[in-house]
Amino acid sequence: MTAYNRVYNFSAGPSVLPLPVLEKVRDDLVNYQGSGQSVMEMSHRSAEFKKILKDAEQDLRELMNIPDNYKVLFIQGGGTLQFSMVPLNLLRNSGKADYAITGTWAKKAYKEACRFGDIKVVASSEDDTFTWVPKFGKEDVRPDADYVYITTNNTIYGTAYNYIPDTGNIPLVADMSSNILSQEIDVTKFGVIWAGAQKNVGPAGVTIVIIREDLLGYAGEKTPVYLDYKIHADNDSSYNTPPCFAIYVAGEVFKHIKATGGISAMEERNRAKAKKLYDYIDSSSLYKNPVAREDRSIMNVVFVTGNADLDKKFVAQAKETGLVNLSGHRSIGGMRASIYNAMPEEGIDALIDFMKKFEEENK
Ligand SMILES: *Cc1c(COP(=O)(O)O)cnc(C)c1O
Repeated sequence: MTAYNRVYNFSAGPSVLPLPVLEKVRDDLVNYQGSGQSVMEMSHRSAEFKKILKDAEQDLRELMNIPDNYKVLFIQGGGTLQFSMVPLNLLRNSGKADYAITGTWAKKAYKEACRFGDIKVVASSEDDTFTWVPKFGKEDVRPDADYVYITTNNTIYGTAYNYIPDTGNIPLVADMSSNILSQEIDVTKFGVIWAGAQKNVGPAGVTIVIIREDLLGYAGEKTPVYLDYKIHADNDSSYNTPPCFAIYVAGEVFKHIKATGGISAMEERNRAKAKKLYDYIDSSSLYKNPVAREDRSIMNVVFVTGNADLDKKFVAQAKETGLVNLSGHRSIGGMRASIYNAMPEEGIDALIDFMKKFEEENK
């Protein structure tokens, strides 16, 4: 029996949060740290909330080793608003940008950018239903592109970049919504990193943007004020009311990651969890993972039985066992186990036990 009778939640997002964080948030809920109020009720201009915001930024900087010449912003609007904010702010010279299409989210980002400039597909694996991640570099990118755009982890297809494309002097922009904080990355290789919180960071409602300072200040005159990164940077993410509670919970997650060994320890645990699950899938005669091995995501593990009805049965029976949200994205079907930072190894073990039993019963 799990604590509080909780299920193992394999949802792709919003997704599982660390139990110690939920308990801390619960304990502080009605009276945050002796302030006499909950974080939900606090003025975003109060000293208490300013400290929450500042600590969250500082802890994220420490965890990701973010250099001083990058700003950290907490913005609303989810990942989808970043599809618009990126071109609105970064198409600043030639009006050209090159996008790698590695899944649904990358494609949505590309389509949105096409409304604002001359956007080219630099690489794509769409013809193979996004089962691998293309390799490309400087020589493939237009030399006058204002930026190059990638999606480091493809949440729906279960693939991830196993390298960082070298784009020379052209800023690389990365959507890290589903793998931020899961493994060590070199922030200096990127112009902009952004991530919606609800996959691997915290509750829905806040999006993290990490942006190199020299890329600020290029939003066009007609850009809505909220969509200008510089406005958020100049006002410490408090130009208007920020998503206070979501920032607070994300901040508690950052503290928790720091207290449990930081990103390198997290990466080690994540790789071990993913390896266990992939090894089992590879050894099984029922389940298949359709992804090129070297491009397998350590966050979203997709698999199929090859029989859509059996897949449905799998998802339904798993749910009865307390293993929930295992169906693949509605666009591709099959199964998907999202095993983000907060999924404990016991959850992987329970899933594998169930998979074995199901395989045995459905030979
Ligand atoms: C979920 C997701 C998005 C979209 O996020 P929303 O907050 O729902 O707009 C974008 N990119 C990736 C990689 C995602 O996983």
